[in-house]
Amino acid sequence: MTKASFVGFSAPAEPMDERKLVIFRIQTKILDVMTRRLLEKGFYWILPVILSKATDPLWPDPEFSIEKKIEVEIYGERVRAMQSMIVHKRVLVSLGPEKFFILSPNIRIERRQRAATGRHLYEFTQLEVEVADAKMEDIFRIFEDLITKSIEAVKRDLGGELKLLGRDLKIPEPPFKVYKRKELEERYGKDWSIEVARHSIDPVWVTDIPRQFYDYEDEATGEWRNFDLILPEGFGEVISGAEREYEYEKLSRKMERDGIDKSQYGLILRLAEKGLLKPSAGAGLGVERFVAYVAGVEHVAEVQPFPRVPGVVPEI
Ligand code: ASP
Ligand code: MG
Repeated sequence: MTKASFVGFSAPAEPMDERKLVIFRIQTKILDVMTRRLLEKGFYWILPVILSKATDPLWPDPEFSIEKKIEVEIYGERVRAMQSMIVHKRVLVSLGPEKFFILSPNIRIERRQRAATGRHLYEFTQLEVEVADAKMEDIFRIFEDLITKSIEAVKRDLGGELKLLGRDLKIPEPPFKVYKRKELEERYGKDWSIEVARHSIDPVWVTDIPRQFYDYEDEATGEWRNFDLILPEGFGEVISGAEREYEYEKLSRKMERDGIDKSQYGLILRLAEKGLLKPSAGAGLGVERFVAYVAGVEHVAEVQPFPRVPGVVPEI
């Protein structure tokens, strides 16, 4: 299927073809390896929440393209569908387990034009990780390990499946290269995130991206201590993460600067005011995007049993 043909796509009403089952086997292997590696490193496995008064504003962000935020009233209170568990991760890492992961479903009602990018879904799952007192480089090493070990395992155990998909996949070699966003903007213009991936064989880290208030901004140098991981072959961004802000004054000032409604972030601000919000670093990996890359499919919705293509609402 081509990317464009997904614009009218809905779930099929006939037995799934072998290709889809093969993709599910690849996804099962990836999740098995990734969760096992994290458990071996002593991470807690936390379960997600979906409805909350607080969620990621997703703004400001160069990638922003949300056409609607889902808000409903329950028990007389307004709650939102989870856009990312960043607020919950920051609270938990400060008050509870110092390193954990969550397979967290997110709802982001992307503009329908994004159906044709082949990379966007309006429901997807992130493998979220957060570690107290960690730096960006610690998070790089964690995800480089998860990515290389899961690709190794797929190649070792599911060679026949990759062959059926016609996928010739290389095991990437860590550490992955690190670029600054500014360098790439100068070299490739505003579409750097697609271009850089086109010109590399292994995934690359890109740092210093001005965006949401919770990512750490070094006010002395103007550097943002955050990052994306960009996959090769045009698959694009698969991880976003950062070191985090933890000081009350700065958080408060950045929220005001961005025109953010502070009422959603009261708990974070109160913890910060009391000195209880710990410095941490973390990131989230888009599970479907990573599986789509490993399987080498044209559209990320091909890995979903019930596709969630922007603009298309199927029967189930
Ligand atoms: N998961 C990301 C983070 O940890 C936020 C996002 O969903 O973009 O920073
Ligand atoms: Mg992102």
